[in-house]
Amino acid sequence: MMKYRVGILGATGTVGQRFVQLLESHPYFEITALAASERSVGKTYVEATPWKLPTPMPEKIKEIVVSPIEPPLDCDLVFSSLPSSIARETEEKFARAGYPVISNSSSFRMEEDVPLLIPEINHDHLGIIEVQKHRRGFDAGFIVTNPNCAVTSFAPPLAALHEKFGVEAVIVTTLQAISGAGYPGIPAYDITDNVFPYISGEEPKVETEAQKILGKFQDGEIVKADFTVSAQCFRVNVMDGHLASVRVKLRENATLEDVKQAMIDYPALDLPSSPSQFIYVCDEPDRPQPRLDRDRGNGMTITVGRLFPDNVFDYRFVCLSHNTIRGAAGAAILNAELLVEKRMIKRKS
Ligand code: NAP
Repeated sequence: MMKYRVGILGATGTVGQRFVQLLESHPYFEITALAASERSVGKTYVEATPWKLPTPMPEKIKEIVVSPIEPPLDCDLVFSSLPSSIARETEEKFARAGYPVISNSSSFRMEEDVPLLIPEINHDHLGIIEVQKHRRGFDAGFIVTNPNCAVTSFAPPLAALHEKFGVEAVIVTTLQAISGAGYPGIPAYDITDNVFPYISGEEPKVETEAQKILGKFQDGEIVKADFTVSAQCFRVNVMDGHLASVRVKLRENATLEDVKQAMIDYPALDLPSSPSQFIYVCDEPDRPQPRLDRDRGNGMTITVGRLFPDNVFDYRFVCLSHNTIRGAAGAAILNAELLVEKRMIKRKS
């Protein structure tokens, strides 16, 4: 296949670097444009980027000169990992200029005509793109988003339970990694020897996004799932990997074995970045742990453990996902792979 040319908005940041790493030898995509702030524009990528990943910066990327976050860029689609403060205006501008925008940022996630995708769960929500194009007057361009990185850890097990037994209510406590705050992120002085009980703007996202993801696409709209989520979000002294402790009340009776099997059986997809097992359920009493489990399925598997009946709700469990892979760059790449398979991305001549 002739590869699609991709641009990355926010290429020098934490998520931008993951995009560069994960796209190094991707079968569908090659990087042809990198864009970031005024601080970086005009420098080569190697000069501009405080590279923090343990694999070396890809050679062929190093000398690309960083562009401003303005169309036109030399690419067929853009991945966006911009701060939400500037993502809204910039992503809309790129979509209007004819680029598919595959975004990580929160700006458009809850807009009713924008898909909030986890392809294994709700790929049919792509149907809303036609509505989006019509409403916003986009031509070839459109916007697709992936969920908040903490939501990504618990929406998949909830989807498995919702499909079989119906979810009525959820209490979730997240323990979120340092890399989730970007670079340089939270000061060492605040996080060392500490747990930080506040992540600005996080709890409202964690309380609302899963209902859209698990919603149904019908009659040209996404109808949100009808359950409530109560969330508390903490920053913990872990580099990568968001844990979530979940208690769930179901609408129908289910045995522990039914609940476990529903998660194990939830199907994976056959896309280049799909893991072979979407939800992996551990039996060990002391798993999942970020350091040991975040890289399962190349960082794209959701790991669940400590699944038990609960004394207040019906069941409780702990789940984990890699926040910069399944929760960010890997998620966006999976979304783009799905769009390619559905022939929704065109090459710009
Ligand atoms: P980050 O490390 O702070 O990187 C921010 C990027 O945006 C850098 O490339 C930066 O360029 C660029 N940027 C900042 N201000 C800009 C401006 N005014 N104009 C143009 N470019 C600008 O942040 P991050 O963690 O990668 O997060 C990026 C986005 O992804 C955020 O919306 C975040 O909420 C979302 N997200 C992050 C994670 C995660 O785990 N980190 C997970 C899911 C979603 P310079 O280097 O030139 O300043």
